Amino acid sequence: MFEDNSPKTSLSELGEFGLIDHLTRFVEIYQPSTLKGIGDDAAVIHHKDEATVVTTDMLVEGVHFDLAYMPLKHLGYKAVMVNLSDVYAMNAEATQITVSIAASNRFPVEALEELYAGITLAAKTYKVDVVGGDTTSSTSGLVISITALGKVDPKKVTSRDGAKPNDLLVVTGDLGAAYMGLQVLEREKQVFKVNPNAQPDLEPYAYLVERQLKPEARKDIPGLLAALEVQPTSMIDISDGLSSEVIHICKSSKVGANIFEEKIPLDPAVISVCEEFNIDSTTIALNGGEDYELLFTVDQKDFDKIKANPNLTIVGHITEEREGMHLVTRGNQKIPIKAQGWNSFDDEKEED
Ligand code: ADP
Ligand code: MG
Repeated sequence: MFEDNSPKTSLSELGEFGLIDHLTRFVEIYQPSTLKGIGDDAAVIHHKDEATVVTTDMLVEGVHFDLAYMPLKHLGYKAVMVNLSDVYAMNAEATQITVSIAASNRFPVEALEELYAGITLAAKTYKVDVVGGDTTSSTSGLVISITALGKVDPKKVTSRDGAKPNDLLVVTGDLGAAYMGLQVLEREKQVFKVNPNAQPDLEPYAYLVERQLKPEARKDIPGLLAALEVQPTSMIDISDGLSSEVIHICKSSKVGANIFEEKIPLDPAVISVCEEFNIDSTTIALNGGEDYELLFTVDQKDFDKIKANPNLTIVGHITEEREGMHLVTRGNQKIPIKAQGWNSFDDEKEED
């Protein structure tokens, strides 16, 4: 979908070290805990009294992204978000990342510069330091693997296993938009295949496409929870859809849950595009992926602290394990919740 006639420099012209220097030339240090960044055998981080959290995610061309509609700059940005989201889900502050890239010679230097522009923009916006990585060639396609580090007061760490019966289930933001953005982009790709001159009009879908191509991780939530004086009993990021994440919390915490269909936060753009595609919006919120919102549980006593917050929606509550996990529909039916989050090892589903 993207015509590009700009100059191309082959990767071999720069060589590995030249390429690393070139790509990382705009890297800045924001965090006092970064004692040593790029350029030595290892980075040195000093988080003093706090616990360090570490998380890694890998994105593989053709599995996790399609360059037909994913601009490389967005891909770089998103690859960082995917990781920061996991850090915030531990109630931690993200501080550093390392960036490993494998690219085939199909990618000129300028393409990797675009990728890196997205990475450095994300780093600047979220005040995380790029402190290292690896750069290597691949025989086919592009692979990007990012590791993120963060720091957290050990007393404030939120894992998946602390939810108790009667806790409230809370989500941030709204759900399903990224998945519907992907559906819109897939449709435009098919139109483009038939008619390469077609100009996609994505304006009506701007919010959805943005949520797919330029997701933002919820950096604000650990701080918001601290300001509200709420310590969640468990937390997870919503990368595979609400159902899948509720199941993770319930299994880890050995509890059940009820989610109320009418409470699930949906943007009006999701509702209207679901009508257009003739898909049920609740199904999309439950099973679509890549929202990068947070799902957490809080004790009932915290209800007053969170109830009026526009960032937070109470979607249900935790029950005893034997009661199972259910969606309570608008018609007051109880439907068991099943995991349908997208799975990279599932060949039948192409959209991931
Ligand atoms: P080593 O031989 O120790 O693996 P490299 O030559 O791979 O070192 O990398 C040199 C330096 O550049 C190291 O500090 C490494 O962390 C950093 N680096 C390599 N690739 C990247 C990248 N894509 N992004 C950020 N830093 C990188
Ligand atoms: Mg190396």
